[in-house]
Amino acid sequence: METYDIIIVGGGPAALTAGLYAARRNLKTLILSETLGGQMALAHVVENYPGVEAISGMELAEKMKKQAEKFGCEFKLAKVGGLELKGEIKKVKTPEKEYSSKIVIIATGSHYRRLKVEGEDKFIGKGVSYCATCDLPLFKDKKVAIIGGSDSAVTAAMYASEIASETFLIHRRDKLRAEEVTQEKLKKTPVKIIWNSVIEKVEGDKFVNKVIIKNVKTNETQELQLDGIFIEIGEIPTTEIVKAAGVEVNEKNFVIVNDKFETNIPGVYAVGDVTGSFAQIIVAAAEGAEAATNAYLYLKGGFYGERKPADYGEKKK
Ligand code: NAP
Repeated sequence: METYDIIIVGGGPAALTAGLYAARRNLKTLILSETLGGQMALAHVVENYPGVEAISGMELAEKMKKQAEKFGCEFKLAKVGGLELKGEIKKVKTPEKEYSSKIVIIATGSHYRRLKVEGEDKFIGKGVSYCATCDLPLFKDKKVAIIGGSDSAVTAAMYASEIASETFLIHRRDKLRAEEVTQEKLKKTPVKIIWNSVIEKVEGDKFVNKVIIKNVKTNETQELQLDGIFIEIGEIPTTEIVKAAGVEVNEKNFVIVNDKFETNIPGVYAVGDVTGSFAQIIVAAAEGAEAATNAYLYLKGGFYGERKPADYGEKKK
């Protein structure tokens, strides 16, 4: 079994920043994640990370990883299948290996929400996609619709309008909730918005060829011929393995943390989207920085070792 001071589960901005801060405190740090970058990696372009005018989510993830590694943080691509968190020494299990540490930081983020309509499951990978950045290039000169009304959907629709022959944005309300700057940009594209509407059914043969849309105000339905549908309706937290290990979650399935990002289990922290924070790269990164520093103080008993180690659960002064 390999032993570390801190093991971070997850690979998005919260995890990578926690890794950077822990490594800069000379803690033996390991990040275990199935992918690099988490949801950030799926962003076609990130324009609101201060100091960086525009960058793809994947490029930003690679830069964050490189920066953490520069200070000694290890990053391993692996699916964490089990956690043993109670007790002083925690165990983190992947199919190949078992690792141990005194601190575990949960940064498992979130995964896409499904529409849960007829035909959706049947056509996943055959015209139904949850990742516009990954799959839109396959829809050159095709007719596509993006579902949703927030930043993911609007940025995906703008990107689609550069690739597809025709792009629809289907939203269940009569206004969008995406950032105003993004909404202004959308107005300058040929994207056609279908307001107050939801998808009732996805249909096709081998691939999607149409959707049935219902107007929620009039209850009228219409058919729309399409080659692809991109579902960009937000995320749900990834908490299965942490719940199984005894970490408490709230009624929405988000991990419950206090203002030091501590969970109910001493030595176990949680940061980023999995806690239900404002889902922004900068917020996730900030939480990762703070949790890693709090974990360092917990391990060392304060900057000067002035405290007894176990101040876990105490409120911030
Ligand atoms: P989100 O903000 O949670 O929005 C989800 C959207 O999907 C909402 O418009 C919601 O409608 C709609 N929706 C949810 N369930 C639906 C259903 N069953 N059927 C139809 N529509 C449904 O998700 P997000 O767009 O993925 O954004 C997540 C976070 O990442 C946000 O904080 C966002 O600002 C951020 N983000 C930022 C950028 C950027 O470049 N700045 C890019 C992507 C994401 P209602 O509005 O009616 O609730």
